[in-house]
Amino acid sequence: MASLMKLRNVNKIVGVLRNHNASMASAAVMPNRNPDIQHKQVFINNEWRDAVSGKTFPTVNPATGEVICHVAEGDKVDVDIAVKAAQDAFKLGSPWRRMDAGERGYLMNRVADLIERDRKYLAELETLDNGKPFQVAYNVDLELVLRCYRYYAGWADKNHGKTIPIWGDFFCYTRHEPVGVCGQIIPWNFPLLMQAWKLAPALSLGNTVVMKLAEQTPLSGLHIASLFKEAGLPEGVLNIIPGYGPTAGAAISRHPEVDKVAFTGSTEVGQMVAADAAQSNLKRVSLELGGKSPNIIFSDADLDMAVDQAHFGLFFNMGQCCTAGSRCYVEEGIYDAFVEKSMEKAKNRTIGDGFDPNNDQGPQVDEDQMNKILAMIKLGKDQGARLITGGGRYGDKGYFVQPTVFSDVADNMTIANEEIFGPVMQIMKFKTVDEVIERANINKYGLAAAVVTNDISRALNVANSVRAGTVWVNCYDVFDSCSPFGGFKMSGNGRELGEYGLEAYTEVKSVIIKVPTKNS
Ligand code: NAP
Ligand code: MG
Repeated sequence: MASLMKLRNVNKIVGVLRNHNASMASAAVMPNRNPDIQHKQVFINNEWRDAVSGKTFPTVNPATGEVICHVAEGDKVDVDIAVKAAQDAFKLGSPWRRMDAGERGYLMNRVADLIERDRKYLAELETLDNGKPFQVAYNVDLELVLRCYRYYAGWADKNHGKTIPIWGDFFCYTRHEPVGVCGQIIPWNFPLLMQAWKLAPALSLGNTVVMKLAEQTPLSGLHIASLFKEAGLPEGVLNIIPGYGPTAGAAISRHPEVDKVAFTGSTEVGQMVAADAAQSNLKRVSLELGGKSPNIIFSDADLDMAVDQAHFGLFFNMGQCCTAGSRCYVEEGIYDAFVEKSMEKAKNRTIGDGFDPNNDQGPQVDEDQMNKILAMIKLGKDQGARLITGGGRYGDKGYFVQPTVFSDVADNMTIANEEIFGPVMQIMKFKTVDEVIERANINKYGLAAAVVTNDISRALNVANSVRAGTVWVNCYDVFDSCSPFGGFKMSGNGRELGEYGLEAYTEVKSVIIKVPTKNS
């Protein structure tokens, strides 16, 4: 009976997610909550080594607050060595530069096969280090990771140039070439997926990489490095440095020999990365930053569906999503009913260790994030929003936050403007389409938006009018490797994923050749 109950809950979690991304795998796999940690060092030139300083840092299980293990703390010196390795691997005539584009694609597919082989282990590392529910890590994160590596494997030999009919007796063609040594700095909210979004296009297109993992979640990304080695990646093509942002991260964005930096994380750090890139060598920069996404719900929508979408759009991944639908604008006719149902739904969330399949919600990633979220909740109360459920820490072990809902939120409150990155929902009331579009666009961010309505003209009007990189209509957080993702305004520069994502890792070269003719 107990195990049946557990299975039912697994199906509930997976079922909810499947509604959003219809074709995902949905196996109910039982995890090992003590996976063996195989890799804790810096990865350079296909070798594992200690940091030059000998320093290590602890990585913590956020469900318990206990240290899982100590990991090598790379800093500037290690970044310098890694950049040299990546430069050597990028030299003309190197095994990597001589590898056929198609072969790079096969290699990437072999990596995907190895990820598939180790899928359960990788999901266990993700739950242990990040806290997210195992069934979500296994069925959602790993599914998207696999699709991303395979998608860009397919592009390896298809990112080609054009022939161009220029003026005069000349033959002009373009070559799509790799950018060179790419620095990549990733966050902790989807460690494996953020790594895949960066490594898959960069390596499929023939670049070399120096990547810094987030200090909160280094374990799964280090295992991926070992899979690239196993798949036959030449030495120096991929180098991975666990370590801290202001040391290892800044060393990447300031490095004079790094050709490009790709960053995902907070807008504040994104600004520092862009400034460092500009002041060092004007390296190319792509940024995927914060958000405060409006989710606009009209009164003609199916109320239960709208409540489900909004709940998922905010609480998924413990609210630690750059796309979190944290400004819920609800039309006045259904406002009270929406608030009531959203409160009930939040109250029904089950919270606890992500390895327990009964839990919908795991811990926040660390104590700092938990405290930051609790401080934002206090600000919400102090500034006059109505707290209708939650509002505090959950338990006294680990970094859990109660699912929290505020109603009567005004546009000028801090919780309506700043990214909270936690399980905290803001509900606001609106009267007209024009009013809500204007309010949706007030914010400095422009990452994503959603509209829930049965009126197609209204949906298209909102989709065309909101300044956001992705707009979901009657759905939320639907992602696929084929569909580009990125931000307007302070949510970032450039796009990841899809064909548009190739641009970030491609230099275009024009070659112009004199064509002798009878008259010349
Ligand atoms: P963050 O500081 O922006 O971290 C993102 C990555 O940048 C991490 O690898 C970080 O290293 C690194 N970093 C930090 N300072 C750096 C610097 N000066 N130069 C180069 N790299 C640097 O984000 P956070 O502190 O983890 O979280 C703070 C807030 O950022 C969250 O509350 C949330 O609002 C936002 N956030 C957004 C996303 C997103 O997907 N857009 C993801 C995570 C967080 P460390 O590992 O040492 O921090
Ligand atoms: Mg940080």
